[in-house]
Parts: sequence; C-alpha cells; structure tokens
Amino acid sequence: ALTIGIVGLPNVGKSTLFNALTRNQVLAANYPFATIEPNIGVVNLPDARLDRLAELFHSERIVPATVSFVDIAGIVRGASEGEGLGNQFLANIREADAIAQVVRGFSDDDVVHVEGGVNPRNDLETIGAELMLADLQTIEKALPRYEKEVKGKRLDPAVLEAAVAAKDALDRGVLLSAAGVDLAPIKELGLLTAKPFIFVFNVDEAVLTDAARKAELEALVAPAHAVFLDAKIESELIDLDPEDAKELLESTGQDESGLDQLARIGFDTLGLQTYLTAGPKEARAWTIGKGWKAPQAAGVIHTDFEKGFIKAEVISFEDLVSLGSVVEARAHGKARLEGKDYVMQDGDVVEFRHS
Ligand code: GDP
Repeated sequence: ALTIGIVGLPNVGKSTLFNALTRNQVLAANYPFATIEPNIGVVNLPDARLDRLAELFHSERIVPATVSFVDIAGIVRGASEGEGLGNQFLANIREADAIAQVVRGFSDDDVVHVEGGVNPRNDLETIGAELMLADLQTIEKALPRYEKEVKGKRLDPAVLEAAVAAKDALDRGVLLSAAGVDLAPIKELGLLTAKPFIFVFNVDEAVLTDAARKAELEALVAPAHAVFLDAKIESELIDLDPEDAKELLESTGQDESGLDQLARIGFDTLGLQTYLTAGPKEARAWTIGKGWKAPQAAGVIHTDFEKGFIKAEVISFEDLVSLGSVVEARAHGKARLEGKDYVMQDGDVVEFRHS
C-alpha cells in the first residue's frame, strides 16, 4: 500500500498527531528523539457517500478506503550528516510515497523549540535544506557508478543525464519537485525532495479561525497543500463520541477534523481515488489510481475480475442517490454499460460483469 511519511523537527507535535491518527498511545514526550522506531498508522478515509449507500442498500457494514501514515520522527539541522539519528530516518523517508511535514505554529513555553523559537518559515527552510542535502548525497554517491556503467554500455545514458540534471537543480537550491527534471530514469534513488509534500501546520486553536494568518502560512508552502490543525484538540477529538466531537469541532469553528482533512488531502496527493460498490452485505470504497481503466479497477476486487472482465455497469453516485435504486437508474438510462477502455471516475458505483 502507498504510505505517507510524517516528518518535522523534534517537538513540533508529530507523535501527538500520529497518536491521534492511529488512536494508539505511542510515546509522546517532551524531548527530542523520543520517536525512534517508525510506526505505521492506517486511518479511514472519511466518505459520507458510503453512509448514504449503506442506507439505500441496507448494507450490513461499511468498508471505507484507508490511508497509511508512517511516523518517521524528527529531523534536526545536520540530519543529512548523520546528526541526531539522521541517516537512519532519512532511509525510512525514502520508502514513503508522499511526505507530510509537520510544522510547529503553536506557542507553549513549556515545550522546547529545538531551534530556539517558533518560526514556521525558518523551520520549513531547515527541513527543506536537510532534505536537499540528503538528495545531493544520494546522487553524488550514485554518479561514479552511473558514469562507469554508461561508459561500459551497461546503462541507459538517460539515467546519467537525469542524475546530472537533478544534481544541478539541487546545487542551485531548487527542490526536485519544482525542478522540471524528468526523474523517471532515477526513480530507484528514492529522492526525497521529488516526492509530493503536504504541510501540516500544528497551530494554536485561535489560528484555526484566523483566515489571514492561515493565508500567510499557506503562502509559505504553495503550491503544495496546507492542512491546519491543533494536534492537542485532535487527540481530544478521538476520545469523544461523534456527537461531542461534532460539538467540540464547531466550537473551534471547523466543520471537519484536521485528521479527516489530512486523510483526504493525503489520499489525493498520492494520486488515488475510489470507486464504490454496494449491496446488502457491504457498502465499500475501493482504492484505485486516477486514470485507471475498468479492468484494472476490477482487479482490485479480485484478479479474476480483471482477467475475465466483460463489462462494468456504472451509475454515478449522484444519479443513484437521486433516483433511489439501481432499478430506477436503469429505467432512466443512468446505468451505463462500460467496456474495457472506460476510464473510472471518482464516485462511480460499479458492478462488474466477468466470466
Ligand atoms: P514530536 O517530537 O514532533 O513527536 O512532538 P510531540 O508530539 O512529542 O510533542 C512535543 C510536546 O509538544 C508534547 O509535550 C506535546 O504535548 C506538545 N504539543 C504537541 N502538539 C501541541 C499543540 O498543538 N499545542 C500545544 N500547546 N502543545 C502541543
């Protein structure tokens, strides 16, 4: 499964957030390097459409899509040089498909800031610089091997060209995601700044409703997505029943929890979408990539569905809900029979026909 690695300076609230994400109680301590082992937390992707489908079909249960987060722990200045357990962590980030960087925006004199003061812009620069240095090292290590193998005609020169272009960009201080270099030939290097990023600002409650401050912070990371949350509130929310949680959220001026936002934006950043199936047994979301065609999507349910694919009967969620049943949707011409070249759309409600 695709995973999102959580990174950030020490003491920015990563463990607190991760606890909330997993509803587990891993160590959240007020000192650097408290988080040592990477942990995986799997969270449900919120999807109100599933509740609606479960009502229509009297489904026994709901199975949402999930998003996996890896708690990778702190990066400090000098991490790329092996300080503060750096290299070990960088190796773990390399395996993540996207990165959620937690940035401290909350003020609390009791919680030490490792760089002396709460300064999101500075923190973003510190982490960005460490990740770029780590990528430079990775490339510099690979270059001699690439040169030798291209010389010996054992390697496609495009690999070497991509590595040189990426190194140039990093030398100029440009993140690889913004460098316009085709990195496909050097995918194996797992370059960190080439990954999609989400920025999670862990802020004081007052900031959650401060549109001007949020716009300022958002501008620091654009065009990447920014999520604003208060990790302390998030960890309170998970212990409340839905009614009370809703009340607490509303009292902080939000209509969706930070974790739900993070799951949604994370899912999207990974380039994923869902299609839906529904019946008396379950209403379920299935995870596919954007642009996938019907047979590949069917293969997520069962490989036999892909091999023996005949047709997909597709109804859009909106049509199904407004017409009230599959029978009505068919009667109104809203149930389409799609073939093997059909490109799946988010929220398609599907039944596959297969041999
Ligand atoms: P990590 O080192 O990034 O994993 O940070 P932790 O999650 O361990 O948090 C460090 C300290 O900051 C802990 O004492 C947390 O309780 C506290 N903390 C985390 N998030 C918040 C927040 O949103 N507001 C306040 N006031 N304290 C927080």
